[in-house]
Amino acid sequence: MAYRTRFAPSPTGLLHLGHAFSAITAYERAREAEGQFLLRIENIDTTRSRPEFEDAILSDLKWLGLDWEHPVTRQSERFDVYADAVRKLRDLGLVYPCTCTRRDIAAAVAARQEGVDQPPVYPGTCRGRTDAPVDAAWRLNMSAAIDHLGGAAAVAELTWTETGPDCAGCHHLDAEKLLKEHGDIVLARRDIGTSYNVAVVVDDAEQGITEVVRGLDLFEETPVHRLLQALLNLPVPDWHHHRLIRDENGKRLAKRDDAKSLASLRDAGRTPADVARMLSLDHGF
Ligand code: GLU
Ligand code: ZN
Repeated sequence: MAYRTRFAPSPTGLLHLGHAFSAITAYERAREAEGQFLLRIENIDTTRSRPEFEDAILSDLKWLGLDWEHPVTRQSERFDVYADAVRKLRDLGLVYPCTCTRRDIAAAVAARQEGVDQPPVYPGTCRGRTDAPVDAAWRLNMSAAIDHLGGAAAVAELTWTETGPDCAGCHHLDAEKLLKEHGDIVLARRDIGTSYNVAVVVDDAEQGITEVVRGLDLFEETPVHRLLQALLNLPVPDWHHHRLIRDENGKRLAKRDDAKSLASLRDAGRTPADVARMLSLDHGF
C-alpha cells in the first residue's frame, strides 16, 4: 500500500518549533517513501479552536516549504461521522452515559484510594446505566469492550508496529493495562459529542493513513487507538512517535510559549534553514 501520513495540529495556538519538527518529520518520511503527506485540522474543541490559528498554521507550514494533498480535512465538518462511530459502539452495548462532574469523579476516586497511589481512571460510577440523558458524556465500558473482543488472551493478539526511535518494534494490547491505565474513557464529551480518541481513529482510517507520525507524548494513547480500531473494524496503521523538542531548560514546548512560535521566529528574521538548525536536522528543506 502506498505510504500516507499526516500532520494533525489543533488550531488552539500558534505553531512552535515542536510542531515544525513533527510536520517536517512526517513530510520527510512521506517524501522518502514516495508517498503522500496530508494535513488535518483537529478543531473538534470548538471553544478553544480559532480560525485565525488555522490560517496561521497554513502560512507557517508554507513558510517552512511544505506542501500537502488537498482537500485538507477539518474535523469540525465531520461531527456526524464521529457520532456514527459512537452510535456503533453504543449499539454493541459497550457504551454508557455519564453525568458525573469532575468533582464527583475526584471525590469517588479519593474515597476509593484512601491514600493508596492509584491512577486517576474513572471509578465507574455510572457503569451499567441504560438511560440516555441529553447532557451526558458517553464512556466506553472497557471491561465489556475487552470481552467483546474475546477476552484478555484474544486482546493480546492485537498487535501494531512502532517505527519511532524510542520504542521501535511490535507492540500488543494488554487488557490489564487498558483497565488500569485507561479504564472507561470518554468517547463523546457532553459539549461536543465526540473526543480526540474517536475522531483520530475515524479520520486516520478515512484519510487512508498507513503510518501515523506524531510526538512521543501521544505514545501512551496508542493502545486506546488500537482498541478502537479493533472495535470499529478500522484498518491499523503503523505508528512513528518522534522525540519531543524541549527548550533550553529541558521543558517541553507548549503553545503558550509565544517566544518560540514559528511566527515570532519569522518576524525576528529567522529563515526555515535557521529552524532546521535549531531542530538539529541534518538536512535542509
Ligand atoms: N491534534 C493533536 C495535537 O495537536 C495530534 C494528534 C495526533 O497526531 O494523533 O497534539
Ligand atoms: Zn459518571
